[in-house]
Amino acid sequence: MKGLMQDGPLMISSLIQIGADVYGGSEVVSVVAGEGVVRHTYRDINKRAKQLAQALQSAGIGMTDRVATLAWNDHRHLEAYYGVSGMGAVVHTINPRLFPEQLIYIINHAEDRILLTDPMFLPLIEKIIDNCPKLEKIVAMCTAENLPESSLDIIAYEDFIGGFDGNYTWPEFEETAASSLCYTSGTTGNPKGALYTHRSTVLHALMAGTPSVTGTGSNTTLMPVVPMFHVNAWGQPYYAPLTGSKLVLPGPGLDGASLYNIIHAEGVTNTAGVPTIWLNLLKHTREVEGNLDVLEHVIIGGSAAPSAMIEEFQTTYGTQVVHAWGMTEMSPLGSSGVLPPHIEKTATEAEKFDLKVKQGHRVWGVDMKIVDDEEVPQPHDGKARGHLVVRGPWIISSYYNNHDANEKAFTKDGWFYTGDIATIDPDNFLQLVDRSKDVIKSGGEWISSIDLENEAVGAAGVGEAAVIGVAHPKWDERPVLVIVPEDSDNPPSEDSIRDHLSTRIAKWWMPDLIVFRNEIPHGATGKILKTDLRDELKDVLQDAG
Ligand code: ADP
Repeated sequence: MKGLMQDGPLMISSLIQIGADVYGGSEVVSVVAGEGVVRHTYRDINKRAKQLAQALQSAGIGMTDRVATLAWNDHRHLEAYYGVSGMGAVVHTINPRLFPEQLIYIINHAEDRILLTDPMFLPLIEKIIDNCPKLEKIVAMCTAENLPESSLDIIAYEDFIGGFDGNYTWPEFEETAASSLCYTSGTTGNPKGALYTHRSTVLHALMAGTPSVTGTGSNTTLMPVVPMFHVNAWGQPYYAPLTGSKLVLPGPGLDGASLYNIIHAEGVTNTAGVPTIWLNLLKHTREVEGNLDVLEHVIIGGSAAPSAMIEEFQTTYGTQVVHAWGMTEMSPLGSSGVLPPHIEKTATEAEKFDLKVKQGHRVWGVDMKIVDDEEVPQPHDGKARGHLVVRGPWIISSYYNNHDANEKAFTKDGWFYTGDIATIDPDNFLQLVDRSKDVIKSGGEWISSIDLENEAVGAAGVGEAAVIGVAHPKWDERPVLVIVPEDSDNPPSEDSIRDHLSTRIAKWWMPDLIVFRNEIPHGATGKILKTDLRDELKDVLQDAG
């Protein structure tokens, strides 16, 4: 017997519409290059997103056509999230830090017809435009006065939408229609596309915008520092209007001082981003002897949050860390470090801290298991390690137009291979051992590069640390530790780092070599680019015995 409830499609536009109808007075504060701080409400954003929908329609864009963005976090990008998906087209958020060849590849692969871009990226587009034959129109996300000189045929965003009145009703269509497209940053091979649906995005927003997953409440001010081109800014632009939260979009200035100032100026209570960003914020806060009193929750993900960072946020500044894990293929959230009430009430501070360092527990909607090479499930005992596989309604069922990638991405029973190796404990807390391609195979045993890096950044004078496996004549691979000193004029000694590590890691994990660098290469999403380090250091242990 079927139930007797009405059916209605879950539409992304409904999120901004409830924002306008009920939380219309909540602010969207946006830092825009060349314009400074710009203030709108959800009511304004809904209207402007509708104007954009009308403008796209009149430019001939229809259902499922791809409209790309190349932009930092600001209100126009937010309008694109809603305007493009809301009218039935697909918003393809592009990472401007990709190499030109990768940009050309994904623009052509996605068959983008219109590109909405921050003016600062026009020189980049000038270089690649001849290789993107399907691109019909370029809209610079600025006012007419701020439109820069360019050899391209461009129109200012405000002119593009300015002739339309926003008198538009969001259409309803199938909730499984494609809504947005994001490519993985592709540190190996070409980027692969995750094509989200209205349904997957709305369900993800309902899950993520809750206290038990992200600490989002009814009086929260959210600031996604994670860029809106990096997996939907982890969902914040979607759950902000749904929860009525004030939204702060910080624009391109992501240095420690800019973030510190905007957190205080706008009363940001919840923010989200990768560890590198928080290193800068903490460094600045220390330097100015400031505080982070307003900041209640910081979501850290994308790479492992080092325990020293978690400790500093929580103990020194009273900001709760939500260590989260996810990926482009998962919209992205798969786990959250908000402690369940029974643990919050009964665990000791030390036990709670140990859990915070893990990558959190699975969230509603995501099933997880770890399997061995033959896909046999391993126990959730916190010890057994395995390939982490997942399934759920906001996880890809296949990559977009990529037969080769699909072949290897799923288990025989259809679970998605995350490419991560993990343990899961009896409380369903996940701990990443490593990415399958980063784990160091030494004499048949595994060494976790994540654990080693985590310990190394806790040593005095260490700013950043990366561990890679380097070919070794006897052990197959051995760890090499690359250190960026906090202060390049006064680097820590190799001995002091080894002393620090010796009490914290198994003896056979000790790196064979410690290398000092003034900088470590970062990939397009701010993560350490180990491929470059591996290439550079591949022969350094060749003569070891
Ligand atoms: P890419 O790095 O390929 O662009 P994603 O941003 O989707 O793509 O990265 C997903 C991967 O990032 C995960 O599979 C995992 O290896 C890593 N990751 C994400 N969050 C964490 C975390 N909290 N701790 C450790 N690794 C993480």
